[in-house]
Amino acid sequence: MQQLLADCFAFLAASPSPYHAVHTAAGLLRAAGFVHLEESAPWALVPGGAYYVTRNGSSLIAWRMPGGKLGGWRGAAAHSDSPAFRLTCTKKEDAYYARAEVEPYGGMRLCSWLDRPLTLAGRILVRSKEGVVSRLIAPERDLLCIPSLCVHFDRDGAKGAPLDPKIDLQPIFGAAGEDLSAVLAGEGGVCPRADILDYDLTLAVRQAPCTVGLENEFFMAPRIDDLACAFGTLTGFLAGTPCETRGDVWCLFDNEEVGSGTRQGALGSFLPDVLARAEAALGLGAEQRIAARANSLFLSADNAHATHPNHPETSDAAHPVVLNGGVVIKYNASQKYTTSGLTGALIAEICRRAEVPVQAFYNRPDTPGGSTLGNLLARQVSVPMADIGLPQLAMHSAVETAGCADIGHLACAAAKFYSSVLTQKTDGSWEIA
Ligand SMILES: [Zn+2]
Repeated sequence: MQQLLADCFAFLAASPSPYHAVHTAAGLLRAAGFVHLEESAPWALVPGGAYYVTRNGSSLIAWRMPGGKLGGWRGAAAHSDSPAFRLTCTKKEDAYYARAEVEPYGGMRLCSWLDRPLTLAGRILVRSKEGVVSRLIAPERDLLCIPSLCVHFDRDGAKGAPLDPKIDLQPIFGAAGEDLSAVLAGEGGVCPRADILDYDLTLAVRQAPCTVGLENEFFMAPRIDDLACAFGTLTGFLAGTPCETRGDVWCLFDNEEVGSGTRQGALGSFLPDVLARAEAALGLGAEQRIAARANSLFLSADNAHATHPNHPETSDAAHPVVLNGGVVIKYNASQKYTTSGLTGALIAEICRRAEVPVQAFYNRPDTPGGSTLGNLLARQVSVPMADIGLPQLAMHSAVETAGCADIGHLACAAAKFYSSVLTQKTDGSWEIA
């Protein structure tokens, strides 16, 4: 289990942006024998083959073809993005400091970005002889900071006045006159600097994941939401048992934090496009394809709120969720989560067979709560689905907190899921083998 946690920490540390998360996952997939395909090229898929494809460099889908006739898909989806400040300008005029400009991405816990070392992460777009190429950037040093206004000058802030991103949350990185594009050119090996045509970069926290607690039972890291779920489900996907009659899919989508409504997001055509190409390669007609999808099960894996120790009143008292308490199955009457009694029962049974504890998450009845991937993905691919996640605290803070044992819980549950043959015998009844 110590090795699994170390691998999770390495995954988190190597993935400071969605582009890096995809790059990290792709490396693990290639090491496991998966073949990289390009969406823009023809595919020659064979039974039993294992493949992955990326879209926009920030989303990835990996899959294993069934060895024989496709009876259904087993899938899981997590997201590659996290709330962060997006870089909009590398140089802002200022008499005293080198400053950049940023805008918020996603539902950020703004105050958590103050007074901590920051770097940049993402991709730069570089002019080449042939046209334009993407290059990943993640300097291994801290370049920027956003100093808070001291309490002596900010009596309102001390009383909890909100921060204004335009005024309170713009970073500095050096003496007046410096331009961040010089740093980007140096880090990316680009000369002349003008060859950097554009960029997709955010501020990023480099703080290494670390354990906390008397027994090292908790850990703190940036981007636990949702890279811990990405790691846990990918580990289970790779450890699963390939099946003659089941295809296995693992998805990592960008843009969940801003509603998923992009070409590379869960609301885009990425998953239906990949499934359609795989099903066509298997020679499935429309009738067989519809039957196979009805006989499929997907997990939407995104982190869940643990009950806060200082504010237990914000959670549903009947369903406390604790760190290290096991995989969380998420329910919502308004269907923001896809779990039904039936799919919840299936996941709980798979977890029981994997000897993994489960917990249920419900919002307080008077709280609307958040949304995630599953219900949006279901609009594109309407397969039976359940929403699960790892319990965590401080969601959307620059540094979040979770339980070490839960990494193993999710990886074991996902491995069992990807090794089980689930068959919908009649509507409402499933066989688990
Ligand atoms: Zn999330």
